[in-house]
Amino acid sequence: MTELRSLVIVLGDQLDLDAAAFDGFDAALDAVWMAEVAEESTHVWSSKPRIAMFLAAMRHFALELQAAGRPLHYSRLDSEGNAGSLGAQLKADILRLRPARLVMTAPGDWRVLQAIRAVAEAGDLPLEIREDRHFFASVREFAAHARGRKTLRMEYFYREQRKRHDVLMQGDEPVGGRWNFDADNREAFSADGPGAVPPRIRFEPDAVTREVIALVNARFAQHPGSLDSFAWPVTRVQALKSLQAFVEQRLPLFGRYQDAMWPGDPWLYHSHLSAALNLKRLNPREVVAAAERAYHDGHAPLASVEGFIRQILGWREYVRGIYWTQMPDYAQRNALNARADLPAWYWTGDTDMACLRDALAQTLTHGYANHIQRLMVTGLYALLLGVEPRQVHAWYLAVYVDAVEWVELPNTLGMSQYADGGVMGSKPYVATGKYIQRMSPHCKACRYDPAQRSGDSACPFTTLYWDFLMRHEAVLAGNPRMSLQVKNVARLTDVQRQQVSERATAIRRGEVGPSGRT
Ligand SMILES: Cc1cc2nc3c(=O)[nH]c(=O)nc-3n(C[C@H](O)[C@H](O)[C@H](O)COP(=O)(O)OP(=O)(O)OC[C@H]3O[C@@H](n4cnc5c(N)ncnc54)[C@H](O)[C@@H]3O)c2cc1C
Ligand code: SF4
Repeated sequence: MTELRSLVIVLGDQLDLDAAAFDGFDAALDAVWMAEVAEESTHVWSSKPRIAMFLAAMRHFALELQAAGRPLHYSRLDSEGNAGSLGAQLKADILRLRPARLVMTAPGDWRVLQAIRAVAEAGDLPLEIREDRHFFASVREFAAHARGRKTLRMEYFYREQRKRHDVLMQGDEPVGGRWNFDADNREAFSADGPGAVPPRIRFEPDAVTREVIALVNARFAQHPGSLDSFAWPVTRVQALKSLQAFVEQRLPLFGRYQDAMWPGDPWLYHSHLSAALNLKRLNPREVVAAAERAYHDGHAPLASVEGFIRQILGWREYVRGIYWTQMPDYAQRNALNARADLPAWYWTGDTDMACLRDALAQTLTHGYANHIQRLMVTGLYALLLGVEPRQVHAWYLAVYVDAVEWVELPNTLGMSQYADGGVMGSKPYVATGKYIQRMSPHCKACRYDPAQRSGDSACPFTTLYWDFLMRHEAVLAGNPRMSLQVKNVARLTDVQRQQVSERATAIRRGEVGPSGRT
């Protein structure tokens, strides 16, 4: 038997034939290793759409590898003897295949990196971890940017990225004379609604995906969510079609309605490309280039194109830098000492709060919610309620088809829950129900009133907003960006404080809501 030179490890979110792990790959000497293991679906209670997304994309990638003539050792979840975890499966396969070394592209998850390192060390095998060149910036470049800075704001990093990669630049200046068109990108829909939004591009499951759907429904029957409308892009060709459809149909209005919400429609003018990007079916360079081209061709306005590019070249790269420069301590942060449990209805959508019910229903049905629903509906409610950040993190990592820890954790712990004490955001993103009322018509169909902070019809967001400010008054007083809100809370009388506290306690005890008293 000829010796296996390199076993190239490919994880479920590394589905790229051009990844660094394949540099120098020789089909006569090397082989690829992939494994479906239950632990990746159970270490957080993953939703059916998320599990199916990863498995379907992995199985299609396996076919692409075979077509490219790269020998592959692939363990299916349902194959006899599947070891159940990445570490255990890799260990068993190393004993069987006896490679001289392991090679992989840097993984996106701290836990997985530790597990693979442990197997390599135990087997006394060299493990070569190669740069993930999927990203514009390396972790080292981000660390260099971060060095010596007191705060790590996305905006400065983003400007460096624009210059370094010559994106939307005219010489040394940003195209259009401004770096940021955020102020133009905050519109809500009129009372008539979003109008004729193009239908979302759907990919009907082929035989491979149907087999995965049946497997997930059988094996993970108790997990949240449904696969009845699964239509995500799981192949490279489908991912490219998704990109093309977004640029042609949605990008022109992306910026304008970036923060808007509409009941029953999570898709709106968003791209729905996050899962394809995070599983590496799409490269951010081709996504940014397609958007920039649409601006130069006169197909989409600058505010939309800049707004979209900022999400990819700015936010996406910035959160990755935060993750890898702050882990592993980052995952333990709880700056606001939040201790409450995540309400059980986050897993079912069974609440009478119209905005939350809608966001949760879409999440469970599609494994998707748009950014503003994640930040200002589900995230805001957990923050105001004071849910322990690790529980919020476990929920976000479980439910979305695009959830991979390097991107999910900083968004949840940092941006949404302020659990990192200000590494990512200069203040907690807190608001009353009136914010949701401004950005969507949900409140019209809700039994609660966003203008009321106490009493039986008070919107729980509004009650909990004031309760949040009261609970954290002393800490927030030291934050200049919170001074207005702190001044407002200082004006409350003792009676008003008492009323807010009583209502907040009733909400916490679950006495408000579908099964509660009021
Ligand atoms: C609490 C919370 C948890 C989140 N968890 C995830 C997650 O697990 N995976 C994930 O990909 N995104 C996450 N996000 C960021 C963002 O909400 C999603 O990327 C976006 O909603 C995906 O939908 P889309 O592809 O239609 O995005 P669009 O609105 O079309 O945006 C375009 C692209 O920009 C990128 N992007 C946008 N916002 C962010 C951001 N804040 N951070 C990183 N990339 C961004 C994504 O790749 C996205 O596809 C989270 C946000 C919050 C507030
Ligand atoms: S009233 Fe409050 S709970 Fe109801 S939809 Fe509006 S913000 Fe959501």
